[in-house]
Formats: sequence, C-alpha cells, structure tokens
Amino acid sequence: MTTSTSDVLVIGGGPAGISAALWAARLGVTPLLLEGGPRLGGQLLRSYHRSVDCPGFYGLTGAEIADRLTEHLVAESVPFRVNARVTELSTETLTATVGDEHLTARAIILALGVEKRRLGIPGEREFAGRGVSTSATRDNHLYKNKDVVIVGGGDGAFEEALMLDDAGCRVTLIHRSDRFRARPRYRDAVFARPGIRVLTHACPTEILGDEAVRAIRLEIAPPGEAPKTVTLDVSGVFLTLGILPATALVAGQLDRDAEGFIVTDRHGATSRPGVWACGEATHPLLPSITTAFGDGATAAKAAFQWLAVSSQ
Ligand SMILES: Cc1cc2nc3c(=O)[nH]c(=O)nc-3n(C[C@H](O)[C@H](O)[C@H](O)COP(=O)(O)OP(=O)(O)OC[C@H]3O[C@@H](n4cnc5c(N)ncnc54)[C@H](O)[C@@H]3O)c2cc1C
Repeated sequence: MTTSTSDVLVIGGGPAGISAALWAARLGVTPLLLEGGPRLGGQLLRSYHRSVDCPGFYGLTGAEIADRLTEHLVAESVPFRVNARVTELSTETLTATVGDEHLTARAIILALGVEKRRLGIPGEREFAGRGVSTSATRDNHLYKNKDVVIVGGGDGAFEEALMLDDAGCRVTLIHRSDRFRARPRYRDAVFARPGIRVLTHACPTEILGDEAVRAIRLEIAPPGEAPKTVTLDVSGVFLTLGILPATALVAGQLDRDAEGFIVTDRHGATSRPGVWACGEATHPLLPSITTAFGDGATAAKAAFQWLAVSSQ
C-alpha cells in the first residue's frame, strides 16, 4: 500500500472535474484528477451528435470535445490519471483509495456525475453483451439491417435512436409514458425520421432469447385502456433509462437529497468542511457541459479560498 498527497483531489474526469482541476492548477494549488474510466470526458464520450449549445465547441462531437479538454490539461501540465476509480473515500480524513494506493489531500472536489439506471427485469443481466447493450455508440455496427428496441425517454435514448437509424437498424423506441425528458432538438429529429417507430406507455417485462436476444416482452397500457402484453422479435435491446447520481461513494458521509444527489451551497460546499461537489452529481437546474464547467471552476475557487484561510 503506497500513499501520496496533493493539495486537492478531484474525483471524476467529466467536464466538471476537468474544469475544477484546471482552475485549481491556475489558482496555484496542486490538483490530482482521478478518472475511473479509460479516458477523460465522462458523458461526453456517449454524446454522438455535434455540439450546438456548448459555447466554443460548436460542431464538435462529445468525444472531440473530450479530446480538446484532455489536450488542454496536458498543455497546462495538470496532473490526471485514468483507470483510477476511487473505491473508498473518507470525507473525514480526506483520504481516497485507488487500487492498493491511499491518496490524501487537504481538500476534495467531487465531480462524480451520473450513471445509467437499470430495468431490473428477467433477461437484462443474462443477455448483457449478447443482445442487451447500454451503448449504441459502441455497439451500433453489430445490428445493421436488424430489429432493435431502445428503451428510454431522455437525451441518451433519443440520440441513440438516431444513431441506430443512421447505422441501418430498424428502430423502435419504447417509453413508459408519452412525456419525454429529451431535449427538443433530439425529440424533433426522432419524430421526423420515418424509420424510427415510437411506442409510448410501454414497459418491458422480460427479455427473451437463447444464445442471444430474440425478443422483448412489453406491457402496453395507455391511460384508460386495458393493459396488453406484446412480444416484439428483436436482435438488440438498448437500455438508456436515464440516470442515477454516482454518489454511492459518499453515502452516509455527506448530505444527499432523496434521489441521492449531493447537497451543496451555491459555491459547491458540501456538509463536510474541506469537501466540495460540482457538476451533474449536485442536481443542477440545467445538466449540461456549460454548467459543469462553471460549477467545477466555482468549486475550485472555493476550495482554494478555504485552503488559503486554513493554512494561515
Ligand atoms: C447522450 C448525451 C447527450 C448529451 N448532449 C448534451 C448537449 O448537447 N449539450 C450539453 O450541454 N450537455 C449534453 N449532455 C450532458 C452533459 O454531457 C453532462 O451534463 C456533463 O457531462 C456532466 O458533467 P459532469 O462532469 O458533472 O459528469 P459526467 O460527465 O457524468 O462525468 C463524471 C465522471 O466521473 C467519473 N467517476 C464517477 N465515479 C468515480 C469514482 N468513484 N472514481 C473515479 N471516477 C469516477 C465517471 O467515470 C465520469 O467520467 C449530454 C449527455 C448525454 C449522455
């Protein structure tokens, strides 16, 4: 077990964490940015369409924005590590565990973002990787000329429906109601595509197959009508069911709201001194790249001021 120390540990390498690390370095405190995945970028790596609403990144895909941000950190010599998932964290001693290493800091900035929700129905786990996918970005090429369903009603589901249609799949989007969380730009684009069918008031109840997925069973229950069970023959089931805050790491340590988002003040301060949180894990009014950048910068400034006062 090795131990290393930095001024500020920033946990989570999406837009909020990248901005926090960059700003911490600019303010003269030494950050270490820790990202659990193999690349920096967080949800940017799942966004396939070209940006129209992030100032300065017009026309770039999410992955291209992630590359630009990574280049920016490298150019500014901001230390970061990938494949560095924090598995344990003490917000009391400001210590994080990554593999067999203990990392300590004088302050911690949490930029944990959100993770994908699961359906919890028979077949979901059994067929994972054999027809059940949580990433059309990764798997769309496997389903050309095949029937697929995509389950969900948010940005991810609508964007992935477009991506699967582009990849030559026969796409049905399934959602439990007729209200969608997706941004209008994704919604309008899906409804304008003749190749995408949208089934509303439909809940998957079972995924069926043998070596691979063959069908999905749904209960369709429009308001005021008797529910009916329908089985669709499909080769692929894409699950894009929305998000949960990725905050299990701090369960029981920090105040969180009923949905698990970290409660902060407007500068990102959490219920523990020395610990800030930023980005989508804090339930922003507008979950976006732009607000994540701003939140990260604010948390870095607040941590910097706190460190300056506490070292006097
Ligand atoms: C399909 C899609 C399309 C979108 N389109 C747009 C758009 O057009 N415009 C826009 O502004 N926004 C868009 N968004 C939203 C935007 O990407 C998010 O709001 C933004 O990425 C949030 O940034 P974040 O840093 O708070 O969290 P995230 O991007 O979720 O990053 C969190 C990071 O923390 C890491 N992490 C979590 N736990 C740990 C741990 N224990 N140890 C180490 N690392 C950890 C995760 O691996 C992840 O990389 C879209 C999102 C999706 C999914």
